[in-house]
Amino acid sequence: MSVPEKIRVLLEERLDRRVYDTWCPTLELNEAGKNIWHIPAPNPFYRDWLERELRRPLEEAFQQVFGVAPTLVFKVADSSTPIPLPDPPTPSPVIESPKTAPPPSPFPATLREEEQQTALNPKYTFDSYVVGPSNRFAHAATLAVSENLGNLYNPLFIHGGVGLGKTHLLQALCHAVLERNPYTRIFYLSCENFVNDYIAAIRGGGLDSFRRRYRNADLLVVDDVHFLVGKEASQEEFFHTFNSLHISQKQIVLSSDQPSTDIPTLKDHLLSRFASGLEARIDAPTFETRLSILGDCAQRQGRELPGEILTYIASTIQNNVRELEAAVTRVVGLSALSRRPLTLELAQEALRDSVSPRVSTVTLGRVQETVARYYGLKVSDFRTRTWRKSTSLPRQICIYLCRKFTSHSLAEIGEAFAGKDHSTMIYSVKNVEKLLEKDIIVRTDVERLSRELQS
Ligand code: ADP
Ligand code: MG
Repeated sequence: MSVPEKIRVLLEERLDRRVYDTWCPTLELNEAGKNIWHIPAPNPFYRDWLERELRRPLEEAFQQVFGVAPTLVFKVADSSTPIPLPDPPTPSPVIESPKTAPPPSPFPATLREEEQQTALNPKYTFDSYVVGPSNRFAHAATLAVSENLGNLYNPLFIHGGVGLGKTHLLQALCHAVLERNPYTRIFYLSCENFVNDYIAAIRGGGLDSFRRRYRNADLLVVDDVHFLVGKEASQEEFFHTFNSLHISQKQIVLSSDQPSTDIPTLKDHLLSRFASGLEARIDAPTFETRLSILGDCAQRQGRELPGEILTYIASTIQNNVRELEAAVTRVVGLSALSRRPLTLELAQEALRDSVSPRVSTVTLGRVQETVARYYGLKVSDFRTRTWRKSTSLPRQICIYLCRKFTSHSLAEIGEAFAGKDHSTMIYSVKNVEKLLEKDIIVRTDVERLSRELQS
């Protein structure tokens, strides 16, 4: 048996299986002199890891074989002698979540059940998170924490309404942390799973191991902590877990659908712990952010949606990013299934059920009144045969909104505008669509008006 082989056998005996499997099968030991060994690594990141994980076990193994301590040099291999990168360590041993109530998994059923429970959604990264005024602060805080665990804001508490991207941000943080250091012990779980795990531990008499497990985390991420409402014992246990991690400067990140102070029945001592860190709110995305999310989403589905459809969806669905994404899927799906081009009509048809029924009851008169009031005009300004130049933009916007919010044909809309013809209507709609893409004032006006028409 060669020296490296002997050493490897000794390492296998000594090391934790996971560490051995990750680092040792591809490990090279090159004799560089009397009792001097070089250990090449593909890059500085792996070199540091190898050194940290293996220096001591290697020294002991060499000592055992030769009776003297060796000189070990961990170094980045020069590019002429490429060495294989070890497979990245699988996240499953470090991302722990309780065995009791697995969250619904977006992953294919081919994954082992255990992996399904523990995996993060690979799509929820910082890269795929669209940043805008509504989430800029929460995003920046989460990113900063991912780069500096335990020292910056502890706990970091993210709150915001359903479907606004809390889970996405939390998981992006986990991905980023794992990328920096794949061995970080991350406990990412929903609060519901924490509670279920706790209950199972009490029932099964495994409270000690429950505590040891959670208190062993480097990073504890608990999603939807409002789930603690009315669960006194779980709150108490969570409080102790929180304290023991916090004292040892381990990072805690929490999310909730409301600010901590608004969560009913949350005990004061827990509340004051939450308040000791940083709270960041996520609001409903602005029109621009919605457009941008929609564009990304369409792109992921392999389609480019015309501006008028993006604008239509962004004006129609305002308070939930998940619904924005679902709308794109619907529109793209209907187009594919019915083999029809992506037009505004098709989008309206696809979203008929998800658009509030009030929208379809909007009348031409109501649109005209709303737009006239907004611009300080009179409805009659839209209905006279002679159009003043100064009212031309409001009128075009009004025509655009009639098209969007009513089911009237262009000819019928033309009737409401002093009998102007079909082509004038088309020109107006197209012109507004063009402006929506480049004129922020028009976009804001249309957004506000759309909101008003939907309320
Ligand atoms: P929450 O946990 O707040 O209910 P999620 O994080 O589950 O919301 O987000 C719902 C969906 O919307 C997810 O598919 C997520 O990827 C997406 N999403 C939310 N906010 C953004 C954003 N700013 N950029 C891109 N996608 C987002
Ligand atoms: Mg969530």
